[in-house]
Amino acid sequence: MTKQTHAFQAEVKQILHLVTHSLYSNKEIFLRELVSNASDACDKLRFEALDNAALFEDAPNLEVRISFDEAARTLTISDNGIGMSAEEAAAHLGTIAKSGTREFMARLEGDQKKDAQLIGQFGVGFYSGFIVADRITVETRRAGLAADQGVRWSSEGTGEYEIENINKPGRGTDVILHLREGEDEFLKTWRVKSTVAKYSDHISLPILMKKETWDAEAAKQVVTDEWEPVNKASALWSRSKSEITPEQYQEFYKQISHDSEAPLAYTHNRVEGRSEYTQLLYIPAKAPFDLWNRDKRGGVKLYVKRVFIMDDAEALMPVYLRFVKGVIDSADLPLNVSRELLQESRDVKAIREGSTKRVLGMLESLANSEDAAEKQKYADFWKDFGQVLKEGIGEDHANQERLAKLFRFASTQADANVSLADYVARMKEGQEAVYYITADSLAAAKHSPQLEIFRKKGIEVLLLVDRVDEWMLSHLYEFEGKPLQSVAKGSVDLGKLQDEAEKKKAEATSEAMKPLLDKLKESLKDRARDVRVTTRLVDSPACIVVEEGDVSGHLARLLKQAGQ
Ligand code: ADP
Ligand code: MG
Repeated sequence: MTKQTHAFQAEVKQILHLVTHSLYSNKEIFLRELVSNASDACDKLRFEALDNAALFEDAPNLEVRISFDEAARTLTISDNGIGMSAEEAAAHLGTIAKSGTREFMARLEGDQKKDAQLIGQFGVGFYSGFIVADRITVETRRAGLAADQGVRWSSEGTGEYEIENINKPGRGTDVILHLREGEDEFLKTWRVKSTVAKYSDHISLPILMKKETWDAEAAKQVVTDEWEPVNKASALWSRSKSEITPEQYQEFYKQISHDSEAPLAYTHNRVEGRSEYTQLLYIPAKAPFDLWNRDKRGGVKLYVKRVFIMDDAEALMPVYLRFVKGVIDSADLPLNVSRELLQESRDVKAIREGSTKRVLGMLESLANSEDAAEKQKYADFWKDFGQVLKEGIGEDHANQERLAKLFRFASTQADANVSLADYVARMKEGQEAVYYITADSLAAAKHSPQLEIFRKKGIEVLLLVDRVDEWMLSHLYEFEGKPLQSVAKGSVDLGKLQDEAEKKKAEATSEAMKPLLDKLKESLKDRARDVRVTTRLVDSPACIVVEEGDVSGHLARLLKQAGQ
């Protein structure tokens, strides 16, 4: 193939412009992104080689090398991973296939903090090289292709890129950054080394740089030809807890989640017994932009004995915990396990159950903490993730009770953070049920005439205003033996709370009003099943209720909106 020039896809051009102009203040992140791509490429090779050992050629030790050439002013990140064919290079480095790109651009263009973490989150990390380089040359050969099937891709990061065929004996990819004027700091070992230490220490491959020594004659540090590792190169989760600092746990989280904020909580354990595995799981502090997508696979990476197997192994976590990030490293699963096999594996089931318990445990210890700051953390978590957690009530029957205890609601006594346990503790003497009302909004719930009698009697009512609440209520009928009862259904039975005198009065009124009630029933006969006198109203003249066991008015509206 002779040299060809191609135009970037329109989105790429926009991304390039935004990235180079918006992220400069955080320019060193390009190293993190390129090292992470190199590490991904090695993971991919190791995975493909499970079925085809020949892909290792004669270089089975996967590694990343970083070097620079002061005279040429280039910085090179090399890996001996999977590499790219010409088609792959054009597809991966010239177009953006991922969804969410538009959102990424909107966020960079918007008023929000120019967040350098976004770049990794949206899968456009490669382009960050152009923050410091005015030309990037990528020389690559896909594992398994002949040496003369190498590819050189090159671009100034503006409108187009060139691609040509080269001879490349070594498998893998070299990313060569031609540094912009003024970016010479990346031609210094200490600068590169400290950036790698900051962002990439946990990468489980060796990252090598050439050793420097003091040259007495020249009176300066000189670069030798000897390579030395600049990271620990042991997977973070395989180290013992006592060797890991909180900062390292946080940096690892940021790397795998592409979140710029520290996690809310994490848990790191080696589990032994019927199933043997290590789990390092994080709960984010803020919801990601695509939390609502139930098709999104979870955020847990699966490793088998330190070998990366797959990202987003959804079988490892229930769907309602899809926001959990982390790593699970199994000692039992076969290396060639597929997504399909995972769904059926008994080991995976044990891992999922164990991990779910750990996550619920982390949430419980925040929620039940005596420490005000921890409690506030839980309240913040609930604001962002509460609706997702509610999905669990139907999905995870085994943990229903634990989940119900974690739920927080608004009520007639507090606008937020009322737990079912708080409610039960405040129940009136003789009160037998947990009362609730569902509505589209807090304001609508608060002003419902159905609440009048409860207000009058000082009985607390939960105000359920999330979309998932109706669905949740179809799975959650009771809490600690107390039935959950809608105040908008049937003839509210206040049980022992009912005032005998009131009841008598209502019966007498019913009798006296019979002719009127019959008339109303007659004229509303296609629209109302019954018309009756009630004690539930204090100020309002009338209200609509549905029969016990019927779809509530609120759910009926939701279903109608959904076109059912
Ligand atoms: P992401 O890593 O999130 O997919 P990037 O913009 O960082 O997004 O990289 C885009 C794609 O380019 C990668 O998915 C991969 O297919 C390809 N790529 C980048 N760097 C390498 C590399 N060193 N070796 C092989 N493929 C690479
Ligand atoms: Mg990347």
